[in-house]
Amino acid sequence: MSDSKKINPDDYALATRAVRAGQQRTSEGENSEPIFATSSYVFASAAEAAARFSGEQPGNIYSRFTNPTVRTFEERLAAMEGAERCVATASGMSAITATCIGLLKTGDHIVSSRSIFGSTTMLFENFLRKLGIETTFVELSDVSAWEQAIKPETKFLFLETPSNPLTELVDIAALADIAHKKDCLLVVDNCFCTPVLQQPIALGADIVIHSATKYIDGQGRCMGGAVCGSNEIVGDSVYGFLRTAGPSMSAFNAWVFLKGLETLQLRMQAHSASALKLAQWLEQQAVVERAYYPGLESHPQHELAKQQQSGYGGIVSFELKGGKEAGWNLIDATRLISISANLGDAKTTITHPATTTHGRLTSEQRQNAGISDGLIRVAVGLEDIDDIKNDLARGM
Ligand SMILES: *Cc1c(COP(=O)(O)O)cnc(C)c1O
Repeated sequence: MSDSKKINPDDYALATRAVRAGQQRTSEGENSEPIFATSSYVFASAAEAAARFSGEQPGNIYSRFTNPTVRTFEERLAAMEGAERCVATASGMSAITATCIGLLKTGDHIVSSRSIFGSTTMLFENFLRKLGIETTFVELSDVSAWEQAIKPETKFLFLETPSNPLTELVDIAALADIAHKKDCLLVVDNCFCTPVLQQPIALGADIVIHSATKYIDGQGRCMGGAVCGSNEIVGDSVYGFLRTAGPSMSAFNAWVFLKGLETLQLRMQAHSASALKLAQWLEQQAVVERAYYPGLESHPQHELAKQQQSGYGGIVSFELKGGKEAGWNLIDATRLISISANLGDAKTTITHPATTTHGRLTSEQRQNAGISDGLIRVAVGLEDIDDIKNDLARGM
């Protein structure tokens, strides 16, 4: 392949990187990126095959670890996150698993936010623990708790900000400082913000993780994930595990995500604008006890959100007076909104965290996490926001 127009992303703004970075045209001169639906590659000679396998010569070998469509996606997302390297995975969870197995060994320790994706909690508590890797969970926004939880064995700090579903934040730069003073890495799952709204590496984070399944796809079609960071950490340790163990992204999914990246900025701006309107409206409804959204002036960390993010995202939560009954009634009265725990879709979704995403917690654990029985989470999509308000008003 030869393409004299392959761009240097450093010369261009985010929106341009999202459309152009990583593309290397073939001799066919295609304008849109092709899908390389091939599992293997052929070599010109036995000597070339040997050179590829030994790593002496760069190039494709086998699609578990080298595929041009996947590579284009990786280069584009790396350019958007400001990372040296990105590796794509079959799902968000396999991105997190590959990061853990690639970097940790028995006896190591993780400090993690308590408010993370449920399957990530299960991975840390059940499976890593079985391998002798312990995790201490702390309150996301309590910076001193993070510092106190770090031990000599701690290898990384893990978090999502804003949190799900209560949209709490933590100061990424402050935590990066703490991590680096103690020789640890900072890992940020940036699924809710995407690089459009928040770039953790510029704030000092070492590794950024994505579930591409959510906003990067943006239309609820494909499963995928990614790990972004330095050549040393991501290119050696994480990629080393991935190419061997094999939870790889398919070429087709990589192509869907590539196309998703091209519209990501527009979509994140639209999700954020609609979510802000919805949150402001919810605050004025008599049956709503409280709304949670970083864009609201009433959000306790609104100033941090303004400083750390360039938009507030698509997730809005609110507490209804009347507990679970009121919550379920509101959900069941909707005619348009999808009753689904997924997020990052053009279609708005609604969920009752206490009986779904957080249903496996004890009621005491839920109380500690601030997940009340009247809490509802809406992942605002791309429909007209007045139609979403009207749909929610039916059950109020
Ligand atoms: C969905 C999600 C994941 C897991 O991603 P999958 O693609 O479902 O494996 C991880 N982190 C966050 C914040 C998520 O929302």
